Amino acid sequence: MTCRYCGGSFEKEVVPYGTKYDLRKLKVLIESDPNSTVVFYGGEPLVNREFISNFTREIRAKRYGVQTNGTLVRLLKQEVWKRMDFALLSIDGREETTDKMRGRGIYSTVVRNAKYLKELGLELIARMTVTEHSDIYEDVTHLLSLGLFDKIHWQLNVVWTEKWNVKEWSTRNYIPGIERLMELFMKNLMEGRVLKIIPILGVLSSHYFEGYRGSPCGAGYGSVSITPDGRVLSCPIAVREKWAELGTVEEFKLYEEPLPEECRNCKFNRYCGGRCYYSSQEKYWGEEGFQDVDEITKKYLCIVLKYIPVIDEALRKGIIKREMLYYDPKEDSTEVVP
Ligand code: SF4
Ligand code: SF4
Repeated sequence: MTCRYCGGSFEKEVVPYGTKYDLRKLKVLIESDPNSTVVFYGGEPLVNREFISNFTREIRAKRYGVQTNGTLVRLLKQEVWKRMDFALLSIDGREETTDKMRGRGIYSTVVRNAKYLKELGLELIARMTVTEHSDIYEDVTHLLSLGLFDKIHWQLNVVWTEKWNVKEWSTRNYIPGIERLMELFMKNLMEGRVLKIIPILGVLSSHYFEGYRGSPCGAGYGSVSITPDGRVLSCPIAVREKWAELGTVEEFKLYEEPLPEECRNCKFNRYCGGRCYYSSQEKYWGEEGFQDVDEITKKYLCIVLKYIPVIDEALRKGIIKREMLYYDPKEDSTEVVP
């Protein structure tokens, strides 16, 4: 793969290629949790098909999923796929957007494999990376129009990448695109349908149900990552960062206060949870770059939240039921706030 925004796999000195811990420890943990969700991620998790096959055979979890680039789905046997509940497939939107960033032919491969997984009965989530080459409205609505993906999620390419002019792009494309997506969401809602656009649905869920105590992904308080050497991390990307180490599969401790300090007095914190915990800890774009993205986050949240009175009215009239607005990102390993 030649994805422009990916740093590739971590070195094996940092994240070993083989499993170094006792799987039985995880089995006890997972099977004693009635709400356990296990998601395989990478690198590309499907290249380690034996691990996935054995794990899903030996350990009972309530929900199994995989985050994959969507090119190697045939590596896993059908019987293993059938143990999976959902798959997040990396696709950035329209063919030209996806192939520009991920390489020629990737879009058609992922769409073909999505059809195959859909036929096997999996729930599919499109996992978009959104860059200055994306048109948020066109790319999201294109994926909706395929009728393949049950949910659509995106992340802005602003955490690990070189700094780019996200402010200019957001004024020109992103914020107007979010306005239009929200109008589309509301048009459907008024007809009794809730579009599963996660950055919208996840925010509404935090209004009508419990707010986010920390990053919506649950980093360190509602979800953890297990590295092949048996470390328990709050975030799967933070393989070198000490703040992310919660312990090992033998013993670990969750964060008591997962909300970043600078977010504690923010009026949006129940909807945002401080967005990505990693980005608030590392701030690769510096304080100023972090604030640029924060401004965009607040604008997007305002666009979604301004419809609350209209949604209240729709609930009162019985056009939709409150439960239709519930979304728990930890069950899908999504982040809600892009
Ligand atoms: S909008 Fe910004 S300051 Fe407020 S909770 Fe989110 S990340 Fe923190
Ligand atoms: S959203 Fe941020 S903190 Fe959460 S898992 Fe992703 S990188 Fe880690």
